[in-house]
Amino acid sequence: MNLFNLAGKVAVVTGGNGGIGLAMAEGIASLGANVVIAGRDVAKAMTALAALRALDVKAEFVSADVTKKSECVGLISQAENLFGRVDILVNNAGTSVRKMPQDFTEEEWHHVMDTNLTSAFLCSQAAYHAMKKVGGGKMINIGSMMSLFGAPYATPYASSKGGIVQMTRALATAWAKDNIQVNAVLPGWIDTDLTRRARQQVNGLQESVEKRTPEGRWGTPRDMSGVAAFLASEASNFVTGTAIPVDGGFSIAM
Ligand code: NDP
Repeated sequence: MNLFNLAGKVAVVTGGNGGIGLAMAEGIASLGANVVIAGRDVAKAMTALAALRALDVKAEFVSADVTKKSECVGLISQAENLFGRVDILVNNAGTSVRKMPQDFTEEEWHHVMDTNLTSAFLCSQAAYHAMKKVGGGKMINIGSMMSLFGAPYATPYASSKGGIVQMTRALATAWAKDNIQVNAVLPGWIDTDLTRRARQQVNGLQESVEKRTPEGRWGTPRDMSGVAAFLASEASNFVTGTAIPVDGGFSIAM
């Protein structure tokens, strides 16, 4: 019995060209799955492909803006064309705009909601049909500590990440009979491009995270690889609709 073997499986990871998405793609690839990474930045994608191919799997990049339904549908069908099937979807693409709520424009609100939440719904919808064809699948949605907590500068971000948890529960109930498990991961504070910008914009963030996190440090993208591997594999077949914090204890500390 090997609960962690993904040989012959195919994963699609949005925003898999860097940060947490790449680390999750690497975790899944390390169990033998071929991987399609999606995003917009081609230079980042080329570096990511080299890292994935070094794990002895096939990896390809599909350029896609996941805020657009046609590009989500195109991403899944291109993955099927490239590798013949789709078994795993990681909805990781995300962004943030940091301002007080009274200062957001309508466009900024929609930009964050579309990138973080609507994209996950549209890609899941497209992947559902592909997973049905192969008898089931795994969807992994990326929430945040802001799925649980609020922050003054993060109204659309927290709204989108709270929505990720509820969408995960709804999809998990809808698609359980199709043998599709849908779960969310709630990363703590992880050192990536996204949070490098946050640390420039939010005074004292570096230190306040270190102080509150029982492990006393920021997470690294690699800290996210294992949970992705678990939720993509047979080991998690009776786990669905959950939201798993991977945060060094941030969410259980005072
Ligand atoms: P990055 O900025 O490194 O990654 C974000 C990724 O999303 C990029 O690869 C980017 O690709 C992709 N992306 C953004 N918009 C689009 C779009 N419209 N279409 C396609 N791809 C898009 O940040 P992280 O790795 O930190 O973030 C990854 C996820 O983790 C996000 O959902 C974020 O909210 C979440 N998260 C991060 C935390 C952290 O501490 N870092 C904590 C909690 C959650 P490209 O550059 O090619 O556009």
